[in-house]
Amino acid sequence: MSRSAGGFDFYEVDEMICTFPPAAAQEQARHLREHNPDIKSWQVEAFINHEHPTHETTRQGLREAQAFAQELAAALRQAYPKRDFILLRYGFGVIISFFQRTVGAPETNIAPTQPLEEVAYCDHCQEHRHYTISTHTDEEFPWAEWGACRTCDNEMLLRTWEVYEPVALLLGSSSDTEAERHNHALHRTRMRRFLD
Ligand SMILES: [Zn+2]
Repeated sequence: MSRSAGGFDFYEVDEMICTFPPAAAQEQARHLREHNPDIKSWQVEAFINHEHPTHETTRQGLREAQAFAQELAAALRQAYPKRDFILLRYGFGVIISFFQRTVGAPETNIAPTQPLEEVAYCDHCQEHRHYTISTHTDEEFPWAEWGACRTCDNEMLLRTWEVYEPVALLLGSSSDTEAERHNHALHRTRMRRFLD
């Protein structure tokens, strides 16, 4: 069974909804369970479905990842209007995935527990640099922590929380038509290009 929407293809594989065809998805699932017998089904689904729409860990990168997340969310809602999904962002907010909402799986953002490193990568210097941490909450990405490079004053993305967002919340109740305007095959190409 498969469904297509918004340039994405989705496959139903062993209770999962995957962006991989069944044989590849099952192989990945087997591999994950072999290495981590305690892994939960939603974690397997989320891992299989992860995408890197960009590798830019900057504000611009976060915007691109956000646009991709919204396209993916719109496609999921269109393909499976009766199912509930959680969109997941991690890895500096630029790795995007999803899983089916289920009891025991997170639905709200998770703050990092480790202290920040003393240095972080500065996109402008192209080096790890010391930084001055920004103390105000970012309005555009409230789950992102920013600093200013002490060498060049460039904005630096220090880290992000793990972001878990119900698709219904991400899209809002009335944004379907706007999101669906983006339906074309380009996204399919784009998605495959960034697959790991
Ligand atoms: Zn710098």
